[in-house]
Amino acid sequence: MELKRKAGHEASPEIRREGEIEYLVFPLLEAGGAARHLVSTRLGGVSRGMFASMNYSYMRGDDPAAVDENYRRTARLFGRTPDAFVCSDQTHTVNVRAVTEADAGKGVVRPKDYTDVDGLVTDVPGLILSTLYADCVPLLFVDPVKRVIGCSHSGWRGTAAQMGRVTVEKMRDVYGCDPSDILAAVGPSICGDCYEVGKEVADTFAALFSRPPYSGVRLEELLREERGGKFRLDLWRANAEILLAAGIRREHLAVTDLCTCCNPEYLFSHRASRGRRGNFGAFIMLNEV
Ligand SMILES: [Zn+2]
Repeated sequence: MELKRKAGHEASPEIRREGEIEYLVFPLLEAGGAARHLVSTRLGGVSRGMFASMNYSYMRGDDPAAVDENYRRTARLFGRTPDAFVCSDQTHTVNVRAVTEADAGKGVVRPKDYTDVDGLVTDVPGLILSTLYADCVPLLFVDPVKRVIGCSHSGWRGTAAQMGRVTVEKMRDVYGCDPSDILAAVGPSICGDCYEVGKEVADTFAALFSRPPYSGVRLEELLREERGGKFRLDLWRANAEILLAAGIRREHLAVTDLCTCCNPEYLFSHRASRGRRGNFGAFIMLNEV
């Protein structure tokens, strides 16, 4: 498939294939071999129609048996079975759950017994942390020193509430991670040219990014005013600035060059499909020592 990639991005994701399945990986996060991760594409699953073909949502009307099979195929990429998944319960909060063995399989092979969880962190090897997307921003984290991983869902609300910083702080508070050791990635999501927002959202970001620790950020680089009271918001840049301010080193940060809305045949995009779509996933697992 011919992909549109945005220029000027370093450490962007790489495409990998296994059989029919095509997925994205940030090589930067693989340093030290502490963890494995992937961001799925639409290719290689069994769902049909607007869910074609690798959809992970049970909530949007897809055949549950097809979703089960998509999870099975994805687990296999990690050398695991679906009882290794631990799923978020995404409602645009900045609640981050410290996941343990007791959570294994929740959201795929057994029901979740928690709600309003937009971020997951763990130090338990073999669990596959699982978060879902269709334009919102996936954030992925690996601390190869303390051996801790995380993934967080950061849409505009999560970004405005600094989900990246909250996740880094959770890793520090629960597991003693030093932010300067953490490798992080801003994953495939809607780009700054595609993401139109209204004045209220624009005002929220203007307020956030004009006070410390963001006073040094040039607002016009992440927010562009257009005619008719509309704005274009760059969530990639906003999330990157939040992660840097949280103590992530610039050389430890990768930012996607793939936009969902520019590539809706490849990655589910809510905006491009006007809501007729499934969800792709960002997954991460700590390896056994
Ligand atoms: Zn785009």
